[in-house]
Amino acid sequence: AKGSGRGQFQFFSREMNAATHERLLLESRLWQALEQQEFELYLQPQIDLASGAVIGAEALLRWHHPELGTVGPDRFIPIAEESGLILPLGEWVLQRAIGLLGHWQTIGLGHLRLAVNLSARQCQGHALPAQLDRLLAATGADPELLELEITESAAMQDPEHSRALLQQLRARGISVAIDDFGTGYSSLSYLKLFELDRIKIDRGFVKDIETDPNDAAIVSATIGLAHALGLEVIAEGVETAAQADFLRAHRCDEAQGYLFARPMPAADFERAAGATLDG
Ligand code: C2E
Ligand code: CA
Ligand code: CA
Ligand code: CA
Repeated sequence: AKGSGRGQFQFFSREMNAATHERLLLESRLWQALEQQEFELYLQPQIDLASGAVIGAEALLRWHHPELGTVGPDRFIPIAEESGLILPLGEWVLQRAIGLLGHWQTIGLGHLRLAVNLSARQCQGHALPAQLDRLLAATGADPELLELEITESAAMQDPEHSRALLQQLRARGISVAIDDFGTGYSSLSYLKLFELDRIKIDRGFVKDIETDPNDAAIVSATIGLAHALGLEVIAEGVETAAQADFLRAHRCDEAQGYLFARPMPAADFERAAGATLDG
C-alpha cells in the first residue's frame, strides 16, 4: 500500500505543472484575501485626446499577496469567476469605486469619471441595479460619473438580459462602455440592441497601428462606426506618441495607456489630477 501511495504522489507531482500549482495556491488564499483586505483598486488615467486633459480613470484590481507580492487580475479573476468569489469581490470593487467618486466630490475632483470593470457573473441575475442604488445613495456619488465596462462576450452570453440590464443602468445616468471591442467574435448587431455610451478599442488593435495597415483600417473604421452611431470611442493600450497621433488624427475621443500613465494607487492619481487642476 505504501508503495502504490508513493507512486500516486509521483504521478501527481509530475502532472501538476507550474500553472496548476499556482492556481491551487491562489485559490486557497482568495477568499481569505477579501476578509484580510489584501485587494486594492489601482487607477489608470483616461485622457481627452484633443485637449490632453485627464477626464477620469479606469479602476483596475490588484491583490497584495503576502508571499507572492502584487498579483495582477489576469492571474486571479478567472479563478474568482469559477469559484463564485467574483460576486463578493465585484461588490467590493463597486463599493470602493463609488466611495472614491463620493470622496472626489469633497476634494475638488468632482468632475472626474471612474470606469469599473464588470464580470459576466455580475451581469447575470437581478442584483446589480439595487446594489448600485444602495452604494450611490450611501456615498452621494453622482451616477453620471460612474461608467461600467462590459466585454462584448459577457454582454452576449444572454443578449436580452443584457439589453434590459444596460437600460436599467442608463436610466440611472450610469454610462456603459463595451470593453475589448472587436475581440468577442460576435456580430455587430448588438450595437443596435444595447444602449451604450462608449466603445473601447482593444489594445490588440492599437499595438501595431503604425505598421499593420489592417489594424490601422480596423481602428479608423471603428472610430467612424462609433461616431456614426452617436457613441464615443476610447483606445486602450496606447504606448507611443505615434499611436496617440494616429488616434487623434482619426478623431478618437479618448485614450488610455502607458504613454500617459500606468495604473497607480488612488492617492497618487488624486495627487496628479489635483496638480493638473492647480497648474
Ligand atoms: P482590461 O479591462 O482590458 O484592462 C486593461 C489592461 O491593460 C489592464 O491590465 C491595464 O493595466 C493594461 N494596460 C493599460 N495600459 C497599457 C499599455 O499601454 N500597455 C499594455 N501592455 N497594457 C496596458 P490589468 O490591470 O492587468 O487588468 C487585466 C484585466 O483584468 C482587465 O483587462 C480586466 O479584464 C480585468 N480586471 C481588472 N480589474 C477588474 C475588476 O475590478 N473586475 C473585473 N471583473 N475584472 C477586472
Ligand atoms: Ca476594462
Ligand atoms: Ca450618462
Ligand atoms: Ca482590453
